[in-house]
Amino acid sequence: DEREGEGEIRRLDDATVRQIAAGEVVERPASAVKELVENAIDADASRVTVTVDDGGKGAITVRDDGRGMTEREVREAVKEHTTSKLRDIDDLESGIGTLGFRGEALYAIGGVSRLTVRTRKQGTATGTELTVEGGEVTDVSPVGCPEGTTVEVRDLFYNVPARRKYLKQDSTEFAHVNRVVTGYALANPDVAVTLEHGDRETFATTGQGDLQAAVLSVYGREVAANMVPVEGSGEGPLGGVSGLVSHPETTRASRDYLTVFVNGRYVTASAVREAVVAAYDTQLAPDRYPFAVVSLDLDPGSVDVNVHPRKMEVRFSDEDAVRRQVRTAVRDALLDAGLVRSSAPRG
Ligand code: ADP
Ligand code: MG
Repeated sequence: DEREGEGEIRRLDDATVRQIAAGEVVERPASAVKELVENAIDADASRVTVTVDDGGKGAITVRDDGRGMTEREVREAVKEHTTSKLRDIDDLESGIGTLGFRGEALYAIGGVSRLTVRTRKQGTATGTELTVEGGEVTDVSPVGCPEGTTVEVRDLFYNVPARRKYLKQDSTEFAHVNRVVTGYALANPDVAVTLEHGDRETFATTGQGDLQAAVLSVYGREVAANMVPVEGSGEGPLGGVSGLVSHPETTRASRDYLTVFVNGRYVTASAVREAVVAAYDTQLAPDRYPFAVVSLDLDPGSVDVNVHPRKMEVRFSDEDAVRRQVRTAVRDALLDAGLVRSSAPRG
């Protein structure tokens, strides 16, 4: 007797393939937000506004004043593997300058939601509104709209009940969204980033280009007043380490306030976070973590950004060297500010 799920080898139908692929890119509302904000930044937006309802489960809207798309471009953009950013694997090897490159985000999001893209290319007279429902383009019409792009994602996973069921309560999903938008706001102080949950504004940065000012907008006055600058020169493939780290008393009971960028890309790099924390040596209270915004410039050949479909993980060719240099740079910053005792071993 054959068990359920075994038997003849056959090809999955297109809808199933689409939903499996979508699940790798979009895990929860925050992952859709991440992709849409990356697209806005890649389109050279100077202003990006993110609005979510019900933690992102009801609706996610990302509005930008970037390049915009023509009707032809937006029709292409929602298809599978369509991108204006990457031509071939050599582009990736030489270090891609854009945040996106896989050409699958809009396609994936459109497969598991009700998606509306309203866009007007800079310098053109009319906009286009395109709607996708469960992967099918349902309408394309001319509309009047400002230059730039607004993407609205409603009812995420409405057609994937198994995935929808695992979404957490609104406050938890919103906390993930908040972390992502904060990351991009801090990585791009020259972009005015606003986050709203329902009709409440969570934060808004000015876009005037100053990291200290962005930290003030995102984390508030008290934290911003207790940050010191990091400036490490780096060696080998690591060109430099820069950013801001908090006084040892300005902490939280979570690692969520340790933000890392690699070549301008907001990433989860646990090795870098650990190195930042290690620099405080014994100065942190148990289970407390500092605030840090640490940006690494690396030779593109020594870091792989294409490890994971959500592009959050990076792999360093020499992780130990990166750890050592980050730790030294943060340690030096704390020593210079007189915030740690110099008797602790350096490096
Ligand atoms: P990728 O970002 O990897 O190229 P996406 O599916 O996210 O793939 O987007 C596909 C294409 O749609 C992009 O390459 C870009 O040309 C266009 N696009 C998406 N979002 C925007 C936007 N907000 N403004 C302008 N163009 C966009
Ligand atoms: Mg993209």
